[in-house]
Amino acid sequence: MLGLMMNEPLRIAGLIEHAAKWHGDTEIVSRLTEGGIHRYTYQQAHQRAKQLANALTALGVQNGDRIGTLAWNNHRHFELYYGISGLGAVCHTINPRLFAEQLVYIINHAEDRLVFFDLTFLPLVEKLAPLCPKVETWVLLTDRAHMPDPQDATSPAHPDLRCYEDLLAAHSADFEWPTFDEDTASSLCYTSGTTDQPKGVLYSHRSTLLHSYAAGLPDCFNCAATDVILPVVPMFHVNAWGIPYLAPMIGCKLVLPGPGLDAASLFELFENERVTFSAGVPTIWFGLLTFMREKKARFSTLHKMIVGGASCPPALLRAFDEELGVQIRHAWGMSETSPLGTVNTLKPNQLHLSPDEQFAVGTKQGRAIFGIDLKIVDGDDRELPHDGVAFGDLLVRGPFVAGAYYNSDNRSQFTADGWFRTGDVATIDAEGFMNITDRSKDVIKSGGEWISSIDLENLAVAHPAVAEAAVIGVPHPKWSERPLLVVVRKPDAEVSSEELLAFFEGKVARWWTPEAVEFVDQLPHTATGKLLKTRLRQDFAGYEFPAST
Ligand code: ADP
Repeated sequence: MLGLMMNEPLRIAGLIEHAAKWHGDTEIVSRLTEGGIHRYTYQQAHQRAKQLANALTALGVQNGDRIGTLAWNNHRHFELYYGISGLGAVCHTINPRLFAEQLVYIINHAEDRLVFFDLTFLPLVEKLAPLCPKVETWVLLTDRAHMPDPQDATSPAHPDLRCYEDLLAAHSADFEWPTFDEDTASSLCYTSGTTDQPKGVLYSHRSTLLHSYAAGLPDCFNCAATDVILPVVPMFHVNAWGIPYLAPMIGCKLVLPGPGLDAASLFELFENERVTFSAGVPTIWFGLLTFMREKKARFSTLHKMIVGGASCPPALLRAFDEELGVQIRHAWGMSETSPLGTVNTLKPNQLHLSPDEQFAVGTKQGRAIFGIDLKIVDGDDRELPHDGVAFGDLLVRGPFVAGAYYNSDNRSQFTADGWFRTGDVATIDAEGFMNITDRSKDVIKSGGEWISSIDLENLAVAHPAVAEAAVIGVPHPKWSERPLLVVVRKPDAEVSSEELLAFFEGKVARWWTPEAVEFVDQLPHTATGKLLKTRLRQDFAGYEFPAST
């Protein structure tokens, strides 16, 4: 027997319709790429998203067409999220920090028909355009006054370049969002390809809305109409962790920081716009912490943040909480999980724990949110116990987890019985708290046992002289692999290998202590700011430990 409820498909356009109708005068504030601050309301954003939908229709955009964006977090990118997906086309957010050859691969693989891009990326687009012949139209996200002069022989302007504001001005806001199946593709995001060619994750209207409901829960982002949210996480990678959908769903003010992601610009926006909640990767929060310490500054309204995308060193959680009064929640996820998978908040039976014990719980990646099921398995796919000790490959499944990659028959990460292999290695404790110990390719296998490179890195960065640290496994004649600690010292800080190794004593099992330390000026990073261990391993290929080991 079927239920008797209205069969109304979940659609992304419904979010902006709701915000425009019930929170019409709530603001969206953006820092413009051209400079200055732009302000308008959900009501105005909705009007412009409908003008965009009319413009796309006039350009011949059809259901399912991929439309690329290369843009910062700003109001025009927000309009693209709604105008493109609302129409039934696919909003393909492209990460401009990727290497040019990866961008060409991604745009060609997705077969983007149009690409909308910010002024910052004009020189990049000039390089990409000849290599992406299937893109019919490139649209610059700016007004007429900021368009490059086509008469100027030195200007790199593409001959068919269109101006976004002109395009919108030529169309009315008289548009009815179409209705279609909620499983219709809405948006596309390629993984950064740290280990392989980038792979496309194709979200649907349904997966996006379910993820937004989950993101808003109290044990997740815990946001309400009274909040002011500033996503530092980019709209060009994993949909800024769903915030551009969540904000209209709850009707709160949204602050989009544009290209200015330095600590001073962020602090200014946090204060001026009375931001209460933000989300970003550890590197961003480290930069902000240094700034706050130097300036002896304090936040007036910001009191909760999410950190994720990479493991968050405990020292960062503690500093924000104790020095700045901001509670950071640690979260884990990936492009394939939309991205939220786990978030760290206490359960009732942990409330009696001492502050130190509660802090230790908070350093883990957290508990599965509703919509995500997790398990850890051994090399034969046998499930491992939830004892907080057994390490295994982390598998996930759920209605906002990828079931396949776009236009690819590579199914190596999907099990026959419906799980996705994350490529992460984790423990799960008796309370269900998951702790990422490594990416499966980074785990160090020493004497048949596994050593977590992340745990060792977290310890190393707690040393006052260490700015950044990476641990990689290096072949060893007796133990097969041993950990090598590679360190960037803080400017003017002095510390020897012996002192650093002594710092590990009593904090980890003796056999986990790195075999040796090497000092470097900088560490290699991926386009999204994560440690690029494949490069580091190449740099240290053939490395031999000092003779005594
Ligand atoms: P890629 O870097 O391949 O594009 P994503 O941007 O989707 O992939 O990043 C997902 C990966 O980032 C996860 O598989 C995990 O390795 C890492 N990651 C994300 N959040 C955390 C976290 N809180 N702690 C440790 N690692 C994390």
